[in-house]
Amino acid sequence: MSHAHPELSVVIPVYNEEAGLQSLYDRLYPALDQLGTVYEVIFVNDGSRDRSAALLREQFQRRPDVTRVVLLAANAGQHMAIMAGFEQCRGDVVVTLDADLQNPPEEIGKLLDAVRAGHDYVGSIRRQREDALWRSVASKSMNRLRERITRIKMTDQGCMLRAYRREIVEAMLDCKEVNTFIPALAYTFAHQPTEVVVEHEARSAGESKYSLYSLIRLNFDLMTGFSVAPLQFFSLLGILVSMLSVVTYVGVIIHRLFNHEVTGLIDVIWDRDILAFFLIGLVLFGQGILGEYVGRIHMQVRYRPRYRIGTILESPAVSTSSEDASTLPASRPTLQP
Ligand code: UDP
Ligand code: MG
Repeated sequence: MSHAHPELSVVIPVYNEEAGLQSLYDRLYPALDQLGTVYEVIFVNDGSRDRSAALLREQFQRRPDVTRVVLLAANAGQHMAIMAGFEQCRGDVVVTLDADLQNPPEEIGKLLDAVRAGHDYVGSIRRQREDALWRSVASKSMNRLRERITRIKMTDQGCMLRAYRREIVEAMLDCKEVNTFIPALAYTFAHQPTEVVVEHEARSAGESKYSLYSLIRLNFDLMTGFSVAPLQFFSLLGILVSMLSVVTYVGVIIHRLFNHEVTGLIDVIWDRDILAFFLIGLVLFGQGILGEYVGRIHMQVRYRPRYRIGTILESPAVSTSSEDASTLPASRPTLQP
């Protein structure tokens, strides 16, 4: 009964959301039916400790035609849970949504329209955030800092209501890195990204799963995962400090020679403060060089694909790959000794 190729997959991570799941179903399914397209909903239970998993099983029994449920064995984090959903989804367009109704499901149509208009990545901007004030302020300033460091343009990084074309999702699945930030990762693969303004609501039930600590961790994932600029900052600083110390040192020696402040050679070249300054510069510089190497290791171990080919234009006669070379028809000219 279920369609192998829905147009739309909605991926929803669920972590301890028992109090809000029913109201989510009540709004989500009618909103999706309204779209008049073939869809599937993929719930990923991220190792909830409450009754969420049982509720999701029930929902699966109620709507098996359009519902799929992935139960993770343990809590893996929101972004990893979404990845698990990506692995299972079959739609041409994949939308991510939070389970707490902060992102109104009625907005999915807007995102879908933007994808249909040709965009492969549709981000969203919350018109009016309904979160604690400290969250809004902190996230605005982190957003700005992050944009400068990573050069990823997202007006509102925290909003997870986003749509991706299937190719983008597949590109993300090719990335084997463990810690990641999905909207940013998707952005690195997007050709035609755009953003739409969406509504935002207060949590329907329960409370935020993010403490200040986990938010800070998440921002580190974002910054270190998409840039080595923080490492490079220190090597540049080190170079600057050590250069400055040499210049000052030379300046001081000249000054002393001309002012006859000193008697012996040792007095001319010995200056503890400047020496310390120089050594600090040297240490920073060394640390910076180390950072450069660490940065390269860091990039390498993420095993992101080097590139992704969109299309290759070539005539069929020359198109062959090494595996099927053995199955070529005999008439085809081959290079044989
Ligand atoms: N979530 C998850 N795993 C976690 C933390 C959160 O799957 O470890 C889910 C959660 O159930 C919700 C979404 O991620 O659907 C966003 O979480 P939350 O609403 O707590 O974040 P906030 O809106 O406060 O940023
Ligand atoms: Mg929320």
